Amino acid sequence: MKLKIALQRSGRLSDGSTGLLRKCGIGFSNGLGKLRAEAADFPLEIFFLRDDDIPDYVADGVADIGIVGENVIAENPKAVDTIEKLGFGRCRLSLAVPKGFEYSELSQLAGKKIATSYPNILREYFASRGVSADIHEISGSVEIAPSIGLADAVCDLVSSGSTLFSNGLREVETVMSSEAVLIRRRDLETEQQAILDKLLFRIRSVKAAAQNKYILLNAPVERVDEIKRLLPGMRSPSMVPLADEGWVSLHSVVSETDFWEVVDALKNAGAEGILVLSIDQMIR
Ligand code: ATP
Ligand code: ZN
Repeated sequence: MKLKIALQRSGRLSDGSTGLLRKCGIGFSNGLGKLRAEAADFPLEIFFLRDDDIPDYVADGVADIGIVGENVIAENPKAVDTIEKLGFGRCRLSLAVPKGFEYSELSQLAGKKIATSYPNILREYFASRGVSADIHEISGSVEIAPSIGLADAVCDLVSSGSTLFSNGLREVETVMSSEAVLIRRRDLETEQQAILDKLLFRIRSVKAAAQNKYILLNAPVERVDEIKRLLPGMRSPSMVPLADEGWVSLHSVVSETDFWEVVDALKNAGAEGILVLSIDQMIR
C-alpha cells in the first residue's frame, strides 16, 4: 500500500514541497511536465497539480495528503484536516491602497471598491470589524486594479511587498498570515496513517534541523564552565581535547533564533575558531 501526496506542479510552493520530501530522504524524478511520480525508497506516490485543486483532490480521496498554502484552505474550507505547518511559503494577505490615499483606519475603506482573489476571507474580515466594503473578485493581476480604475484598493498575497510597491500601492493592514501546510483526508486507512506517521516523523526532524545550527569552537580549559553555560545543546556539549594542552574543542547545537547573541557571548567568554554548520536532520 502507498500513500498519495499532492504537490503544486509549478509555482511558489513547488521547490519547497519537493525540497522537503528530498530532505526527508525520499527520492523521485520529477521531469518537467510530469504529473505523477513514484518515490524510490518510500511508499509514496506523488501527484503534481494546481495548488487550488489540491484541497478538493484530498477531500475526494484522489490523494491522501497534500501541501497547500493556509490561505487556500481559509478561502475555501474543505473536508480535510490541517495537520502540520511546514515553515516555507510564508506570506500574508494584505490590504493595500494607492500611495496618495491617506490611510489611518479601516473605516476609511467603507463603501470602497476592493479587488481581491480572496473574497471570502476578506468579507469575513470586514464583517468582523463592522465595516462594509464593495468586494470585487478577480482571479489574477489584482495589483493593477487601482491603476486601471477597477478598484480603490486591493487585498492580495504579499511576501516582500515589492510587487505592491512597483504598482504604486502601500500595504496598510494584514488580513491573515500564511505558510505551507500539510493536509490530510479524514478517513485514512490504518496502514496509510502508519505511513503518514513515518513521514511526519521525518518532516519534524527536518523542521527542527532548519531551526538549529551545529556549532564548533575552541576554548581555553579554564573558561569551559562559563562557555558550557552558554551552550545548551541537546543534552550538554561534547568536549574534545586539542593537541595543544590547555585547550578543548566544544561541539553543540544552538537555536537559530538566538544564534547571534550566543555567538557574541561565546566570543566574549574567550571562544576562538568558531565554526557554524547547518543540520540536515535532527532526531530528538
Ligand atoms: P497554480 O498554477 O498552482 O494555481 P498560483 O499562481 O495560484 O499557482 P502561486 O503564486 O505559485 O500560485 O502561489 C502558491 C502559494 O504560495 C500561495 O497560495 C501562497 O500560499 C504562497 N505564497 C508565498 N508567497 C507568496 C507571494 N508573494 N504571492 C503569492 N503567493 C505566495
Ligand atoms: Zn493557484
